[in-house]
Amino acid sequence: MSKVEAFLTPSEESEIIEAIRHAERMTSGEIRVHLEAHTKMDPLDRAAQLFHLLHMDNTKHANGVLIYIAVEDKKLVILGDKGINDAVPNEFWESTKDHILTHFKQGDIKQGLVQGILEAGEQLQKHFPYTLDDTDELPNEISTN
Ligand code: CA
Ligand code: CA
Repeated sequence: MSKVEAFLTPSEESEIIEAIRHAERMTSGEIRVHLEAHTKMDPLDRAAQLFHLLHMDNTKHANGVLIYIAVEDKKLVILGDKGINDAVPNEFWESTKDHILTHFKQGDIKQGLVQGILEAGEQLQKHFPYTLDDTDELPNEISTN
């Protein structure tokens, strides 16, 4: 078992959670972050598995987005649900992914995630704007294995 503290200080963790809250004020979409040290699986397959395990495939508008990082493997996957993938072109997440990776390669996971989450919120806003009746369908916390 690893914990979030293995990857982030408590204050870094709070900054990331605040970024998720901020992003979700712009969009009805749900953003989650999952961190782990290492995966034996293909990172994309692992992200898809986590997407299901974290109940992210169960949102009303199918607009959940998972940012998955295998820290020691230096692998990053951004995975969107069907509603998003139907609405946006394939390269939708590429620039966000590049920006996260730039910070990540400099050893700054926190800054990469904060920026990535805010960019994801802005991009999601175009297709899934925030509505007053929106609910917070998925917890705004960082999960880990
Ligand atoms: Ca929501
Ligand atoms: Ca949420």
